[in-house]
Amino acid sequence: MSTECWKCGKKAVIHRKYEGKSWCSDHFAEQFESLIKETINKEDLFNSNEKICVALSGGMDSSALLFFLSKLFKNWRNAELVALTVDEGIKGYRDESIEIARELCDDLGVKLHVSSFEDAFGKTLDDIMKDKKHGCTYCGVLRRWLLNKKSRELGADKLATAHNLDDELQSIFMNYLKGDMKRMVRLGAKPAIVEDEKFVPRVKPFRNTPEKEIALYGRIRNLELHQTECPYVENSLRFDVRDFLNEMETKRPSTKFTALRAFDKLLPSLRKKYSSEDVSVDNCDECGEITSGRVCKTCKLLEKI
Ligand code: SF4
Repeated sequence: MSTECWKCGKKAVIHRKYEGKSWCSDHFAEQFESLIKETINKEDLFNSNEKICVALSGGMDSSALLFFLSKLFKNWRNAELVALTVDEGIKGYRDESIEIARELCDDLGVKLHVSSFEDAFGKTLDDIMKDKKHGCTYCGVLRRWLLNKKSRELGADKLATAHNLDDELQSIFMNYLKGDMKRMVRLGAKPAIVEDEKFVPRVKPFRNTPEKEIALYGRIRNLELHQTECPYVENSLRFDVRDFLNEMETKRPSTKFTALRAFDKLLPSLRKKYSSEDVSVDNCDECGEITSGRVCKTCKLLEKI
């Protein structure tokens, strides 16, 4: 492994085994940005005149996404960028990351909106977890509901999330292991979920980018890292899949890219087969938000609380 950048000979900060090249910080960051632009163009993620809402947690991935998009959108005609943070109400954890999100938005001149579980559902996640287990299940469902509702209220045309290559592959493998093929149509840089005026389409500009490289890009751009771990994080199937994929990548560099590319060949057929079932949406009897049944998952969970 070379310790010098293959382009300029300066000290390397990363050696990508999957391509056999080492990169200095400047050339790595430059190439990182051009690869994301490639994904954006190839997948046709944004149009001029759009209002884009970035789901900002204050973690490294979403901070890097906001930083990158604010840089990109400076040169885009009439594109507008806002950030949305969901405050689940996790003391000692989310309050810290919201502070990081605020500072970043101030630095970038992006308007930040914070939406809390407490305001939306009358309870924080800390309240819910007093007599419940599986915090991530509650958290994930309620957060998705709130992100969609709030970004729609903000008038956003798209909701950009920081899902990366590792997240995407983990979801693919988890769906295989659960035999849930229908859920696969929700994957991709521009997921085909539903077409409905109440649904804000998602886009994932980092979907082809490894998590470790996003972290490095964030460090090079001096973004602050939120180090505290969520107290409700669980040792889930996702963790087992993550460990398996990391081990495979170490033994056989490029495995992750190959697996993602193979899935991308299947995705159009999966969408053809399953998306007609997914687009049959209705309004939830309880909250009026979109659902595929009579009552949405969020309201069902809220009933249990
Ligand atoms: Fe929510 Fe789970 Fe993430 Fe904590 S680890 S913020 S509970 S999804």
